[in-house]
Order: sequence, then structure tokens, then C-alpha cells
Amino acid sequence: MRHVRARLARIAIRLAILVLRATAAQLESDTTRSRRRPAPPPDPDCISCSDCLVPGVFWPTDIHEDNTHAWLERCDECRRFDSDIQAANEVIRLGLSNELGVARPTGSTTDSLYANPIGTPGQTTK
Ligand SMILES: [Zn+2]
Repeated sequence: MRHVRARLARIAIRLAILVLRATAAQLESDTTRSRRRPAPPPDPDCISCSDCLVPGVFWPTDIHEDNTHAWLERCDECRRFDSDIQAANEVIRLGLSNELGVARPTGSTTDSLYANPIGTPGQTTK
């Protein structure tokens, strides 16, 4: 009986150590994650998009030399916008476009966003 109790105690201690280790690992991964966040603030002097109409947005731009649409991409360098969609929202907010769309540029394997500038031929005028 004594043996069994001693064995149970050892098992309980081992379990406690395992739980502590798991908790410590979890805590460490949590702090690493929060250290990675937040993203660095956007660079106001970003060279990549300094000559863009809207800072942080490549618009209107060509994709694979396809200029059938006014393609839109956020600047991945300064990351002023979290996504292309957010960048497009800014273009619309500024009143530069009122027509968003998604299409596949020639030679591309993925769809891209475009934002037709206001007053583009073919658009209905008010
Ligand atoms: Zn930029």
C-alpha cells in the first residue's frame, strides 16, 4: 500500500511538472506573438509609393503590362493599408473612383482589384 501511494505521488508530481511546462510554453508563445504585434507604423517617406497619387496605393497601375483596367494594389513597402480592399476604400473615400471591380489581368494567375477613375469613358454620367 505504501508503494502504491508513493507511486501515485510521483505520478502526480510528474503531471504537475508537465502542466507547468505546457503553461510556460503557452505563455512564451503568447508573448512572442504580442511582441510581433503591432506592425511598425507606416513610413511617411516611403520611396516605393512617393510618386503615387494616393500615398500607400499604387493606382492606377499596370499589372503585367495589362492596362485594360485601373488596377489597384496597396504598397507592400510601407503597408499604410492592411489590404488592397482597404487601399481601394481610401481611393473611393477621396472621391477618385466610384467603381470597384475584380478581374484577372492578362498573364496573371490571380484576380486583382481595379478602381475605375471617375469620368472613365463608358461610365454612366449623372
Ligand atoms: Zn509605400
